[in-house]
Amino acid sequence: MGRAFVYVILGGGVAAGYAALEFARRGGYSRGELCIISEETVAPYERPALSKGYLLPEGAARLPGFHTCVGANDELLTTKWYKEQGIELVLGTKVISADVRRKTLFTGTGETISYKTLIIATGARALKLQEFGIQGSDALNICYLRNIDDADKLVNVMKSCPGGNAVVIGGGYIGMECAAALVTNKIKVTMVFPEKHCMGRLFTPKIAEYYENYYASKGVTFVKGTVLTSFEKDTTGKVTAVILKDGRHLRADMVVVGIGIRANTSLFEGQLVISMENGGIKVNGQLQTSDSSVYAVGDVAAFPIKLFDGDVRRLEHVDSARRTARHAVASILEPSKTRDIDYLPFFYSRVFTLSWQFYGDNVGQAVHFGDFTSSSPRFGAYWVNKGHIAGAFLEGGSRDEYEAISVAVWRKAKVTNMAELEKQGLAFAIQE
Ligand code: FAD
Repeated sequence: MGRAFVYVILGGGVAAGYAALEFARRGGYSRGELCIISEETVAPYERPALSKGYLLPEGAARLPGFHTCVGANDELLTTKWYKEQGIELVLGTKVISADVRRKTLFTGTGETISYKTLIIATGARALKLQEFGIQGSDALNICYLRNIDDADKLVNVMKSCPGGNAVVIGGGYIGMECAAALVTNKIKVTMVFPEKHCMGRLFTPKIAEYYENYYASKGVTFVKGTVLTSFEKDTTGKVTAVILKDGRHLRADMVVVGIGIRANTSLFEGQLVISMENGGIKVNGQLQTSDSSVYAVGDVAAFPIKLFDGDVRRLEHVDSARRTARHAVASILEPSKTRDIDYLPFFYSRVFTLSWQFYGDNVGQAVHFGDFTSSSPRFGAYWVNKGHIAGAFLEGGSRDEYEAISVAVWRKAKVTNMAELEKQGLAFAIQE
């Protein structure tokens, strides 16, 4: 069985949804020429909602409410929208192999799908404990969070142990956002991670201290500098305790694991250039891979960041997925008019009533500013590299303040006096 399309978007996540919107806006295809193939059974949705609105005890977000592209205050792309636009959704379908030379994909259902141009938007998968040699990590009450099925399992497990104990493994944003959601659902949380503080890849110790104290005030316990080694289970296979390397046993009615992700590149290994440094499919400024008919976008793509002197990065953030997807479609449909992408890396998170944004790169010396003591805080940090602002973080800012720090990073604002920068704080960016 075989089908042929002009354009195939492989993957049905955030990037796929924004690519579809861009195709529809530009109108560069005819009915039946464009399809999205996705392992998921629903049309593309805003994945960040899964660790936020989706886990609320009341008034939780549910589809179709958070299909793309509501996250960017754009159209809500429901299944009906795709139909109206003549974009075929091939859902619940996993591509199990790809032949780039023959421009063909092979699905788990035995179908062959060929393309003239392919956009790879396969995103990333959550790392599993099994990959670190932890046995029995497929238990009924161990949860990961990457897709809607994972989120449904998490909601069901939470509901099965009201007032119970959860152990959250990992101190990154998935761990932090899930811990906050669990607390909101009245579950007692212990967070375990090997680093010295939470959000180790981004936060400075001072920023982390604020959030850890805030979480502690909500009843969260932190166990840092150690890892789990095994589980204790009951006769039904449910985890009852988590055993740590330092010998501690933590009682657990449920476990949530957020220990990082890996880009879904395996279909293309040996066929396209993969970045050794960050494990993404390497693309140029047009999001084009080493094969000129294949593009890669979102979490799976490693693309050059002009702002970082062309350094090739693989970003795991929703804004990057949205923008790379739209840029790739522009490159495909109007190559002569589309310049190389010029992207300012941006990442945000929301937990409890807190909310922060980060722009740029956290390299160089960090300079903190603002009020780190209030329960409705407004504080942040600049990272200064070689005399210029390289990155900026702000908690509790207004729209204009976030805009101001983003511009300071974008313009690589010059810093002549670090003490003065610290004194000026947010005003430095606002005056820029
Ligand atoms: P994805 O959205 O992961 O989509 C990949 C798609 O490809 C999926 O549909 C998958 O099923 C499909 N696929 C993969 N392989 C195959 C195959 N072989 N065959 C068929 N289909 C396949 N970022 C932020 O900046 N801020 C946040 O607050 C934030 N919160 C998040 C919360 C959660 C719970 C998660 C999981 C992520 C969050 N992110 C956040 C990150 C953001 O969601 C990702 O950067 C974004 O989803 C990447 O989009 P993508 O399209 O590249 O990949």
